[in-house]
Amino acid sequence: MDLEVLNGLLRPKSVAVVGASDTPGKIGYTVVRSLLESKYEGPIYPINPKGGTIQGLQAYTSVLEVPGEIDAAAVVVPAKLVPQVATECGQKGVKGLIVIASGFSEVGLHDLEDQVVTIAHEYGMRVLGPNIVGILSNSDKCNASFAPFLPLAGSAALVSQSGALLIAMDASTYIRRVGFDKMISIGNMSDVDFADLIEWLDQDASTECVSLYIEGIRDGRRFMETARKAGKPIVALKSGVSAHGAAAAASHTGSLAGAQKVYDAAFGQAGVVMASDLNNLFDRTLALSLQPPLTGDNLLILTNGGGVGVLATDSAERYGLPLRFAPKDVQVELKKHMPEFGSAKNPVDLTGMAGRDWYQDSTQYAYGHSWVDGLVVLYCETAMTDPQNIAEGIKAAVDASGVKGKPIVVSFVGGERSEAAMRWLVENGIPAYNEPDTAVNAMAALREYARNKAKASNGFTKLTDVDEAKARAIIAQVRAAGDRNVTEMESKMVFEAYGLPVVTSRQATTEDEAAEMANAMGYPIVMKILSPDILHKSDAGGVKVGLESEAEIREAFRTIMANAKAYNANADIHGVVVQKMAPWGTEVILGSVNDATFGPTLMFGLGGIFVEVLKDVTFRVAPVGVEETLSMLSDINGAPILKGVRGEAPRDTKALADVLSRYSQMICDLADEIQESDANPMIVYEEGAGACIVDARIILKPRKS
Ligand code: ADP
Ligand code: MG
Repeated sequence: MDLEVLNGLLRPKSVAVVGASDTPGKIGYTVVRSLLESKYEGPIYPINPKGGTIQGLQAYTSVLEVPGEIDAAAVVVPAKLVPQVATECGQKGVKGLIVIASGFSEVGLHDLEDQVVTIAHEYGMRVLGPNIVGILSNSDKCNASFAPFLPLAGSAALVSQSGALLIAMDASTYIRRVGFDKMISIGNMSDVDFADLIEWLDQDASTECVSLYIEGIRDGRRFMETARKAGKPIVALKSGVSAHGAAAAASHTGSLAGAQKVYDAAFGQAGVVMASDLNNLFDRTLALSLQPPLTGDNLLILTNGGGVGVLATDSAERYGLPLRFAPKDVQVELKKHMPEFGSAKNPVDLTGMAGRDWYQDSTQYAYGHSWVDGLVVLYCETAMTDPQNIAEGIKAAVDASGVKGKPIVVSFVGGERSEAAMRWLVENGIPAYNEPDTAVNAMAALREYARNKAKASNGFTKLTDVDEAKARAIIAQVRAAGDRNVTEMESKMVFEAYGLPVVTSRQATTEDEAAEMANAMGYPIVMKILSPDILHKSDAGGVKVGLESEAEIREAFRTIMANAKAYNANADIHGVVVQKMAPWGTEVILGSVNDATFGPTLMFGLGGIFVEVLKDVTFRVAPVGVEETLSMLSDINGAPILKGVRGEAPRDTKALADVLSRYSQMICDLADEIQESDANPMIVYEEGAGACIVDARIILKPRKS
């Protein structure tokens, strides 16, 4: 990262507005006015071919005429003039271009956009945009945008791919009381992208939390790497995850949107916390910008109302933080701060009689107790208590405890007095929400952050007992035959080269050959059609299981051939696969996709005929180490099946996790060849008995033209 250049672009000491105007209503007018109204302290240079003065400032006909240095140039001229402006800015020694102008890749003019970036790079400049609102920074009193004012001051930073949304969020910071130091509009991301900004904001002293609105990422791997390295929390709202939404986002910004599950996986692996909607983005940003991560699962809830306590308990379970009973010493101590009919278990119900003292004392004790990893304090407005008084009690307790690095969030339910008290709490660094569920969700964000961060460091160790050359040789043969569908037989050979446990399988072209092979292998046998044109062999009547004798083999051979011909008369038939019949076990599916954004991505789920209907699958961007593949096994809804249900012994999850990790290496090593693959099914046995892949499939990438 070129810190000096990015500082010049994002925290400019001087700004030129190229295309500045004196006519209200024009963007070139608004940007100059925004800078003036934000009380920007550096020099502002309006640039307009007419010269003269603009909004009381001396205007120049070109940046080249400006006497002083220019850090950033906000460019608001028509798109076709931008390359010329870029050249002049380069000659002037400008550090960065804030290209507000639109009419580039978002309307199909990719070349024009590329041209601007090429020119900028020739001069060592960076380009933000085009097609953006601009940049806003409270700590620099710099509103170099056409958003009307700087956001409510705070310690979060927003990076938004949508300009309209940025302006709307800017305004709503004052209603929602979530403070931002910076808001950066990223637009078409021709040059500066999310990864650049994450890296830069991570070192920015005024930023505590990076908040992202994302429609599509170009280089998913780089995004993940940068996010992983960041020391500050990152929370992201990703739109365009539905098929229809993806189409809207793509036409909107000219970038590709990936599938939700892949994004979820990638963000989780990169330590990024997800937000589910705009409200959630604000709520989670507030907590992440004010509080430390929640590093353990012991959440304690204090309340004066049973109702909100139960609601919060439900929420805790929903967001993956199920409550546990507080230990004895905590219960004994907290009992002192409540009437006889209160409860000290968790949630701790101080009852409606609780005033400031009980709140303060129990908060201070609980917050200071080593068992408590995080504290949620709930309060229902009552006739007897003053919300402000309660708020001050909570704050005093936190201060007096001397505890650092432990999160606390608050929810007050009530009227205007409660709202005012919560505002005061937020101003004093304690996130407060008017809905217990939101408070618990915010706490869950702090937990997800800690969990994801810990996960993000789980390394993958490359296995050496693999034969990549052999795998490539098999693929080359398939390519030579002009195919992209790798048959079961060839796929199994590729898998085998990677040390994956495939069932013993051989190819036979005649009935006699099949019989001979079966006799040599031993019964029971499975026989399947072998053709690159028949992907779903069962559908074609091309699978015969449980064959017990040579006579059955011979009959099966004829039936399979006849069925295949009936199914697809033109199919190119390579013969049959004769294989050992694997004993019964639990069928799972391993799969991969070469995602357009994140590259090779591993999938795991329970196999069998319902996999497509239930969609009970989980993804990880490959490669993944064993610790992470183990976590995949518990991700799916069907996880208990692997642990053994109805008297069944637990499955060999260790072997399963090893195979998944190995598989993830294969799809990475061969990422230039493999578009999709699966092992469906792989049969998993009891602990210690391993697993066996009985069907395999690879689809190669289209040939590079
Ligand atoms: P396809 O998916 O193309 O229809 P498969 O090779 O997956 O064909 O075979 C269909 C089903 O037959 C599998 O899902 C599995 O239940 C069973 N099967 C296939 N091969 C074997 C084998 N070698 N051992 C045991 N069962 C098998
Ligand atoms: Mg199959």
